Amino acid sequence: MRSKKVGAVVLAGGKGERMHSTVQKQYLILNGKPLIVHSLEAFEHSPVHEVVLVTGAGEEEHVRREILQPYALHKVVAVTEGGRERYHSVYAGLKALQGCDYVLIHDGARPLVTEEIICRAIRGAIEYDACVVGMPVKDTIKVADDSAYAVSTPDRSHLWQIQTPQAFSYSLVRRAYDQIMSDESLQTGITDDAMVVESQTGYKVKLLEGSYENLKVTTPEDLVVAEILLGKRKQK
Ligand code: C5P
Repeated sequence: MRSKKVGAVVLAGGKGERMHSTVQKQYLILNGKPLIVHSLEAFEHSPVHEVVLVTGAGEEEHVRREILQPYALHKVVAVTEGGRERYHSVYAGLKALQGCDYVLIHDGARPLVTEEIICRAIRGAIEYDACVVGMPVKDTIKVADDSAYAVSTPDRSHLWQIQTPQAFSYSLVRRAYDQIMSDESLQTGITDDAMVVESQTGYKVKLLEGSYENLKVTTPEDLVVAEILLGKRKQK
């Protein structure tokens, strides 16, 4: 792990509209700290060498003053402006990362990521070149038609819910993103990085165990659950 340079792109460039809050989701206070700080601290204490933080337009100054300096987040080497969709933000982050052999891409909206999960993703990237963390689904999943009638029920034993970090050899994921960014017709329905690598390189992406706690804070009720889980960790 030591001889290879590992970088991370942490995404905080979304608008968080499903939170219905006047304060942007990534800056909401969660367990005494801005939400984004929880992820950045996990990376700060991990073997990752450097982090690029992707934010919304015009937020760089605020982030440096209110987030990076007060919380001593020294591994953040660049703050860069994201784009309209998540994949635009990922591409901006990948371009800002210099000279890394491996890269972990993480949703800043997952504040419960741990150093243990980050280490597992790094080992996975080194072993498989492309891996994502996730968990087997607990619920039955149905495919629906446009009128919300069930069309099919995929075999649950083969379904995983995918989380982040998603970890790759830098050159592999960069090549995949260069390809989709050069052709708009390839840019529909992209919701994670693994699917970009799968579709553009044919590489097989390994699924590794994440944690059911590694939730993405999207709606107000996620914030309540995240508070409880973080509070429980503090007590340990
Ligand atoms: O929108 P979604 O829930 O998929 O967002 C996942 C992560 O991607 C969040 O951390 C969000 O801030 C980030 N994002 C981004 N740029 C966008 C959209 C989402 O950095 N344009």
